[in-house]
Amino acid sequence: MSVSLSSQLSKALRQTYLSLPQGSQCMVTYIWIDVTGEELRCKTRTLKDEPQGLEGEELSQCFQSNSDMFLIPVRLFRDPFTLDPNKLVLCEVLNSSREPAETNRRRCCIQVMEKIKEHEIWFGMEQEYTLLGVDKRPFSWPTNGYPAPQGTFYIVESHYRACLYTGIKIGGTNAEVMPSQGEFQVGPCEGVEMGDQLWMSRFLLDRVCEDFGVIASLDPKSLKNWNGAGCHINVSTKSMREEGGLTHIKAAVEKLRNKHQEHISVYDPHDGQDNLRRLTGLHETASIHEFSSGVANRGASVRIPRHMAQEQRGYFEDRRPAANCDPYTVTCAIIRTCLVPEED
Ligand code: ADP
Ligand code: MN
Ligand code: MN
Ligand code: MN
Ligand code: MN
Repeated sequence: MSVSLSSQLSKALRQTYLSLPQGSQCMVTYIWIDVTGEELRCKTRTLKDEPQGLEGEELSQCFQSNSDMFLIPVRLFRDPFTLDPNKLVLCEVLNSSREPAETNRRRCCIQVMEKIKEHEIWFGMEQEYTLLGVDKRPFSWPTNGYPAPQGTFYIVESHYRACLYTGIKIGGTNAEVMPSQGEFQVGPCEGVEMGDQLWMSRFLLDRVCEDFGVIASLDPKSLKNWNGAGCHINVSTKSMREEGGLTHIKAAVEKLRNKHQEHISVYDPHDGQDNLRRLTGLHETASIHEFSSGVANRGASVRIPRHMAQEQRGYFEDRRPAANCDPYTVTCAIIRTCLVPEED
């Protein structure tokens, strides 16, 4: 495994500094989605005491980020890099007139969730990613030919542990068909928590990869002729989880069928352009041009897992979202289509 010298050096030295006492003071790292809508940014502030919740005066004092934007803390996590009592806090971004910034899809997501609260909607997302070396080639691939089967376990395990420590509902991980490609699952999460948790798990992935001297790419198609990277979303409502719920699952799938293009246009950050490269109909994907569904069919847009059909209840899986999708936008679109009554 070729790890860059700088990442080796920093690891040995870092421990010395991290064991210095910090008194009652607390480092809080504020994290937010930047203007691209795809990248995360962060900055750290010293608080006099450990915040006990989001309401703490010191923490909730929203402050201006670098470009006249305001950051509003919305979810607090433990910091797995500098450890307790330090915190990571996910923030919403408001513009200078205190309106949600263009890339702040969370606010609108909350509004939609409020309308359908009684459905108790759960989501689980499967985040796929590709590890790239600093040369931007898939990590551990030699310049010519194919890579050693697994050079990535350290990164996967470190990220897993970091998620558990932080409080992310990580359900598992698996390697993918393409070497250097991995997946982890987050959920089930109710409502807007899905987006919060997935974004934070992406932040952890970025940070862990930085420690190992590699880059995690969420590009939905890193290499032609190999599997792309998606972010399957699994969905259930209370009535789908109850006896006979399959009827409700099938009704939701039909509604999705009628809004295929609308969904494709928000399942990646570029109006469907990214998914055009990925949803080819090959490599366990369905064609972007046509909606399809089926029981246990991994070549469909929407799959009903086999045991759901057997038990006549459970959840369905929308396989269309790209790895770089915004989970707030995706969850919001699914709710609008499947649950919110048509507005006149
Ligand atoms: P796949 O067979 O598609 O690879 P995975 O095991 O990778 O499935 O992922 C299953 C996902 O389904 C997980 O993200 C999990 O949180 C989610 N999930 C499980 N039960 C439910 C449920 N009742 N409602 C919504 N999502 C669920
Ligand atoms: Mn999976
Ligand atoms: Mn899968
Ligand atoms: Mn997968
Ligand atoms: Mn899946």
